[in-house]
Amino acid sequence: MATTHGFVALALVTPVATVAPELATPLSIGAVAGGLAPDLDVAFEHRRTLHFPVLGAGPAVFGLAVVALVPSPIAIAIATFFVAAWVHAASDAVGGGSGFDPWTDPIDRAVFDHRRGRWIRPRRWIRYDGAPEDAALGVALAIPAFVVFDGWVRVLVVLGLAFSLGYALVRRRIPAWLDAHG
Ligand SMILES: [Zn+2]
Repeated sequence: MATTHGFVALALVTPVATVAPELATPLSIGAVAGGLAPDLDVAFEHRRTLHFPVLGAGPAVFGLAVVALVPSPIAIAIATFFVAAWVHAASDAVGGGSGFDPWTDPIDRAVFDHRRGRWIRPRRWIRYDGAPEDAALGVALAIPAFVVFDGWVRVLVVLGLAFSLGYALVRRRIPAWLDAHG
């Protein structure tokens, strides 16, 4: 789920923020924004419009190269954004299908590979978004972020965890609820 992607991104930058605390702000802004942004395509074609599991490596590597040449807070935030968005899209391949009701309408498409022009099949290490293992992974990844960051990142981590746990609790009932109200 989206919050788990946010926690993955924060967990990725946590070691950097530990050794360079002065970079915590651009790292956390880039991680949170890049970790969540791809799922905005739920309003378009989900897991295709804003998900780039293969081509996303390009801007991520380019961003890191810019940081290496001219390090600045804005370059770090942008590079972190592209790395987090790429990791988000690539890691959607190890989750479930792109549909919302895997029980009555399982979809064998995880995320779209724009380079080959075809869908990557879901590995289902995490069976579906909001599965218990999804929430558990989120909790495990959130702990280092909560410890290392402070201020608004800590608040976001707590809010994100509350969302993750609440969503996981009601997840199985949402498709029926949407059917009844949509
Ligand atoms: Zn996604």
